[in-house]
Amino acid sequence: MRAVPLAAALVLAVGLSACSSPAADVLAADTSTAAASAPAGIPQGAADLPAPPGVLPAPAQRTPGPAVTEDTAAAGPATPSPAAPARSSDTHMDPAATDVVVNKRRPLVPVDFAPSGLRQPDVATATDNGLLRPDTATAVEEMFAAASADGVGLVLVSGYRSYANQESTYAYWVGQYGDQAGADTVSARPGHSEHQTGLAFDIGQADGACTLVSCFAGTAAARWAAENAAEYGIILRYPLRSDGTTGFSAEPWHFRFVGRDVSLAMQDAGTRTLEEHFGLPAAPSY
Ligand SMILES: [Zn+2]
Repeated sequence: MRAVPLAAALVLAVGLSACSSPAADVLAADTSTAAASAPAGIPQGAADLPAPPGVLPAPAQRTPGPAVTEDTAAAGPATPSPAAPARSSDTHMDPAATDVVVNKRRPLVPVDFAPSGLRQPDVATATDNGLLRPDTATAVEEMFAAASADGVGLVLVSGYRSYANQESTYAYWVGQYGDQAGADTVSARPGHSEHQTGLAFDIGQADGACTLVSCFAGTAAARWAAENAAEYGIILRYPLRSDGTTGFSAEPWHFRFVGRDVSLAMQDAGTRTLEEHFGLPAAPSY
């Protein structure tokens, strides 16, 4: 399964957003040079492209101090302090709740939150980093089984990503671009990645077609998932033409467990983003 993400990574380097798997991490090593030399080739709004593990600095070499400082230092006035947001569930700030909304203006609180009970769902995977919350893992198993019954092969490409992992990834991209503005085009800042909740995951097609690149939207896997995910409490989190709301370009591979109450309500109402559905402010930027 690794050969395909590697090839896909080359495509990423020339202009596609992604939040990819460890397999694609390997590829990112190949793409880093191109990405660093041609940041304009990667569209604004790209989500959380991982850095290659072999290229990342050792932890002791990383800039000391939490990425929270980076977040707050670079944040505009509209960006909330990680310590400030309310925690009540009705504001969708509880990182352990399925209705939490994480975006460029809504960091996880606490910023280094880690979900409990993570497990690897019993599905085909293209990654060794497919851990998900138990409720999400169960939903993924049901969704993938249903797809298979319909003759569509799905694979899990990426799941939970820790704060520390995202911190390393973001630091890597800051180093590659030389500043946060460049890094922000390819990587979510630590504490702002939905993958840190354990509720988000990336899918691929079983044959590896267009893994983590925009042409995935045209695959049978993407179409099936977009049409059927709601039945399993899952939504497409970054749909087309919603970057002004979500802050991210379309990612036809990135899905998010929200529970059936929310997913079916969104389907019935025709709302395309969590921000819109819950009446939360748009988050086009940090
Ligand atoms: Zn993702």
